[in-house]
Amino acid sequence: MFELSARAQDFIQRCKAFIEKEIEPVEAAFWEEARHLNPNGDWTTWQWPAQLEILKQKAQAAGLWNMFLPDAELGAGLTVQEYAHIAELSGRSLIAPTVFNCNAPDSGNMEVLWRYGSEQQKQQWLQPLLAGKIRSVFCMTETAVASSDATNMQATAIIDGDEIILNGRKWWSSGLGDPNAKIIIFMAHTPDPSKDRHHQHSMVLVPVESKGVRIERMLPVFGDYDAPHGHGEVSFENVRVPIENFIGGAGQGFEIAQGRLGPGRIHHCMRCVGAAEKALELMIDRGMQRHAFGTEILKLGGNLERVAEARVAIDQARLLTLYAAYKMDRLGNMAALTEISAIKVVAPSMLEKVVDMAIQIHGGAGLSHDTALTGFFAQARSLRLADGPDEVHKGMIAKLELRKRGYGSKTKKTLD
Ligand SMILES: Cc1cc2nc3c(=O)[nH]c(=O)nc-3n(C[C@H](O)[C@H](O)[C@H](O)COP(=O)(O)OP(=O)(O)OC[C@H]3O[C@@H](n4cnc5c(N)ncnc54)[C@H](O)[C@@H]3O)c2cc1C
Repeated sequence: MFELSARAQDFIQRCKAFIEKEIEPVEAAFWEEARHLNPNGDWTTWQWPAQLEILKQKAQAAGLWNMFLPDAELGAGLTVQEYAHIAELSGRSLIAPTVFNCNAPDSGNMEVLWRYGSEQQKQQWLQPLLAGKIRSVFCMTETAVASSDATNMQATAIIDGDEIILNGRKWWSSGLGDPNAKIIIFMAHTPDPSKDRHHQHSMVLVPVESKGVRIERMLPVFGDYDAPHGHGEVSFENVRVPIENFIGGAGQGFEIAQGRLGPGRIHHCMRCVGAAEKALELMIDRGMQRHAFGTEILKLGGNLERVAEARVAIDQARLLTLYAAYKMDRLGNMAALTEISAIKVVAPSMLEKVVDMAIQIHGGAGLSHDTALTGFFAQARSLRLADGPDEVHKGMIAKLELRKRGYGSKTKKTLD
């Protein structure tokens, strides 16, 4: 079922070798330097360690670049399921996705422009993104309303002649603190009485430098600003952009969002699987190398059982995610809605559990920056909210199950 083409196997092998040879040996020093360069939430001074560009150039020269993109010329031409294995490998590291130009939110934003962008939008924004020269931001979540229900959105994108006027306040806009963040995909309400409620929202391209765009602050996750990437709060006040900046046309926002989030969830979940594998390795090494009460820590109490529990949970999450990817490749995103929601519930929670066990085995060291464990923990906890909270995905799964039994808005036996 999960067969891989020779081409995919080659990419996977080369990615693995690159991560082991080029990234893992320098990663701890890389983040140490990043913390030194960016000591606080003053995002205006944030910068990446110079090492990042060196690693990106090496990855690009090796052809390990934009592998998420199904386009064979611009990306690697891999299926969703094939790329999933690369996402798992890159998830072992907190910089590998960026080194390969396959990091969120840029990969999702690039895919939006690739699928729905006009030729002019592709020239102006997709090309520099694919080249790794600029970064992008996706602004959907709002401060004032419960954004897990996207129909609550209050931001507006109103057509005024040959321009669009944008107003609203967004937050948790990932990547907004990056010194190379140049373009925002802004999602907003474009009221149109002639259309149904799922065609009232639009995606609009907004240069970060536009008049009326004001970055208010960066939001810390558990006290860490994730510098120099960052998660921003940003206001839009009477921002004017040309009407050509609609992506796919006014009212297409929900349709594009569905397309954007499907593959993105596979990527996020497989990165969780990779991070959990790394956490398990760290847990075993630490537990076997440190001693207490006359034996290795890992052999005390129920610790070996925890190793087994981690292995079982990781493999379950991987298989479910690969199955979701397999269905997407063969039947399309809409046929895989249950599986896409299922993995979004399973994989971040699995990572949270595995990392928590690994932190425990590490003792105090587990909470420091000496390993990637705290970064993985923040990633897992954030992903239980980002791209839809667990409960929303469970609600979706339940709705689809009820629909199979004839209950739902499109049947007589409605529960709505
Ligand atoms: C680190 C991080 C990065 C993020 N990056 C981005 C980004 O780049 N761009 C972007 O637009 N957003 C981003 N987000 C925002 C994220 O997508 C939202 O936080 C999420 O969609 C939830 O919206 P909300 O915060 O408004 O929560 P709310 O909608 O207020 O929901 C709060 C809680 O209500 C409960 N709830 C909601 N619906 C249901 C239900 N149907 N059943 C039961 N309980 C329910 C859940 O417990 C939920 O967590 C990011 C978030 C984080 C933490």
